[in-house]
Order: sequence, then C-alpha cells, then structure tokens
Amino acid sequence: EFLDRIAHLEPKLHSFVTVTPEVAIAQAQAIDAAIAAGDPLPILAGVPIGIKDNMCVKGMPTTCGSNMLKNFVPPYEATVTAKLRAAGAVMVGKTNLDEFAMGSSTENSAIALTANPWNTAYVPGGSSGGSAAAVSGGECVIATGSDTGGSIRQPASYCGVVGLKPTYGLVSRFGLVAFASSLDQIGPFANTVEDAAIFLRAIAGYDPKDSTSINTEIPDYAALLTPDLTQSLKGKKVGVITETFGEGLDSEVEASVRKAIAHMESMGAEIYEISCPRFRYGLPTYYIIAPSEASANLARYDGVKYGFRDESAENLLSMYENTREQGFGAEVKRRIMIGTYVLSAGYYDAYYLKAQKVRTLIVQDFQKAFEQVDVLVCPTAPTTAFKAGSKTEDPLGMYLSDLMTIPVNLAGLPGISIPCGFDSKGMPIGLQMISNVLREDVLLQVAYGYE
Ligand code: GLN
Repeated sequence: EFLDRIAHLEPKLHSFVTVTPEVAIAQAQAIDAAIAAGDPLPILAGVPIGIKDNMCVKGMPTTCGSNMLKNFVPPYEATVTAKLRAAGAVMVGKTNLDEFAMGSSTENSAIALTANPWNTAYVPGGSSGGSAAAVSGGECVIATGSDTGGSIRQPASYCGVVGLKPTYGLVSRFGLVAFASSLDQIGPFANTVEDAAIFLRAIAGYDPKDSTSINTEIPDYAALLTPDLTQSLKGKKVGVITETFGEGLDSEVEASVRKAIAHMESMGAEIYEISCPRFRYGLPTYYIIAPSEASANLARYDGVKYGFRDESAENLLSMYENTREQGFGAEVKRRIMIGTYVLSAGYYDAYYLKAQKVRTLIVQDFQKAFEQVDVLVCPTAPTTAFKAGSKTEDPLGMYLSDLMTIPVNLAGLPGISIPCGFDSKGMPIGLQMISNVLREDVLLQVAYGYE
C-alpha cells in the first residue's frame, strides 16, 4: 500500500532520493513469517519508515544530497538504522535533503527538488525536507531526520507533522554523515507525539561507537504519556520565551501560537513569561560554529578515499581542487569558506573563540529558565513555508528561518515541533516546545497533552 502511494505521489513530491521496494518487501515478508509462526513481534514490526539520506545503510546508496557522494554505497550500517531493522521497521527508501544537511528548504539538494505536500509550489523546509514531506504525504509512517540547527523541527512545522530533536548524545550518530559534530542529532518525524515517543525509545541509547553518546537508562516514553487528557497539563509550568515574539515574526504565526498557549492554560498549565536575552545571538553564533566544524568535517572529500573524483586532473593538487570545485554545491562551498576563514590564525580569537563564549551565555539563559519552568514554548519558525525559489538568492533570509530552533542545538537540549494551526494560505504552523537536558519524558508529556 505504501509503495503504491509512493509511486503515485513521487512524481509530484520527490520526497525520496532512492525508493527501496525490494528491501521493504523482504522486511515485510519476514514480519509476515514471524506472525505466521506466532513469534513475538518487535516494537516497530511492519512500520514503513523513511531514512534521511545522510545516514548510512549498508549496501544502499547514501548521497547526502550531493554530487560528491552521488555514487557512494557505504560498506557499513549506521547504529540508528541497525536499531530500526532490529525493531522490525520496514525501510521504504532514503529521503531527500539539502546537500550535507546545509539549508532550510531542501532546495540545496543536488539530486531533486522536494515539494510541500500541502501545496506543491511551496518548499517543505529543510534540511530534512524529504522526510517531512514523506510523512506528511503519507508515503511512510515515520522517518528519521538529523537536526543541527533546526532541520527536524523547521520542516516538521512547514509540513504539519511532529518533529523531535532529542538531547545531544541521546541517539548515536555513528553512520550519520557529519555536518557540525557538536550540534548534530538524529530524531523522528511522526504523525503523532505518541509515535515519536515510541520511535525515540527504539533509536535512543548508549553506543560506544559514538564518543558523545550518553550512557543513561532509556525510559519507556510512550508509557509515561498521561492518557487522561484532563490531567496531562495540570500544574505543568510552561514558559513563553519573550524574545521570540519580536520583530520578524509573522502575525498569523504569532496568533496561532498565542492561541495554543491559551489552550494549554485552559487545560491547567501555569503560564510564565520567560526572558532569554541572549537567545537572539544564537543565529550569528551558529553561523560561526557550524561552518567551522563543517569545514573540518568536509575536508575528507578530496577524491582520494571515496566519493566523486575528477579523473581528468593532471596532478594530485588539481585533482583535489577540481574534485571539490565540481563535487560541492554553492552553499557547501560558502560554509567551507566561512569556516576556514573564522578558524584561521588571525581570526580564531575574534570569531570562533568569541562564538564559543556566547554559546555558554545562551546555555546559561536556558539553565536559568529551567529553574523556573518545566518546558519553554515559542514558534518553531518565524513564518510558514515559503514559495520554492523565493529565497534561493538570499542566504541570509534563508538562515533566518532557523532563528528559533538554533539556540536549542547550541545548548544540546531536546525540542519538539507540533502542529498548531494554519495560516490564511492553508500552510501549517508549528509550536516549538523545549525541555531541559534528558527531560524528553516531560517534553513528550506536555506535547501529548497539548496535541
Ligand atoms: N538550516 C540550518 C543550516 O543550514 C540547519 C541545518 C540543519 O539542522 N541540518 O545550517
């Protein structure tokens, strides 16, 4: 059924880079056999899932949306996809993304242009736009995303689905192609908070193959959701981040988010105004730290070990140069240049070191906030989805769509985007909720209560 739907919708949506019917059918048949034999079924048995195409699945192309890796077939498996296989999920394909997950609209993909299922003239958000569109369009039930500065939450908001970025270190990144290693985190897109909770448990947990992995007990998040909805928000302390309601916020987004907050209050939540004064420095801080780490991580694409190589080059140096010139797209090159510049000897203190200090101040704002409240709320993005092509010539305008999601990555906190209405053009609006480190239990409870 899902493969038929994919065949039907893909000519319009282009959510997938690769569709894998053989793998899906073999996995589904294995589940059928388990059912016939009366074997106990794992938690995600038979659930059709999409995998963002920056996660390595052994033997399956992993393009990262880049010409650099267009023909790359990884010889190893990401921890997250290995866990999903073990949980019985059925992989229907690899989803489209901005090249190396750099972007906010999926328009930086060198492979395909993904459309927003609510209106195909609009972008699905990014960088995990393929996963968001696939879940929103019903091409799969759950999909993985990676979130470095908002790439799960922002596209979830644009496509009207649930998107969860867990605490930094809760889900192993082994086998995720690195973008900015101190920020990257894997999480789910789902139709409901409960689905996201079930999925999170399936993929979370300590992994010695990821040195940032946290060794902690993983709770049964779904079992902790309060089924009695009259009780789920009672007494929960919810902080509204003052600074997110300023300049640049679309008035329809503001109205929907305020309505959502009033609804939470009517369900018994205690609402507080919380100021995070350094929140607004998140964006410039991110655009120093993320490109710095990216410039180092992307040094490995030199045409020697794997990926694209310019075969016509006359010597080693020109092979490096031509390979990187032809293999990378404009946005990736921009990040490499910014990163290399701010890390260079003369500018390190002025930019990189300064950015790290501001990052600490942002963390302190959040720490202070969580002394007072259980969760923070704000819009996920300042606007709803925009028309394809409308921001491609305006990188700064594009960067602004992550204004409200980026501080959460800088602080390593969990954040979720849940649908909270539509604008007058019929495009979905997202509400972001943020909790303290490793408090996904509280975050999911509040999100579930609201939903
Ligand atoms: N849009 C942001 C960027 O371009 C965030 C991307 C992400 O979270 N992967 O860097």
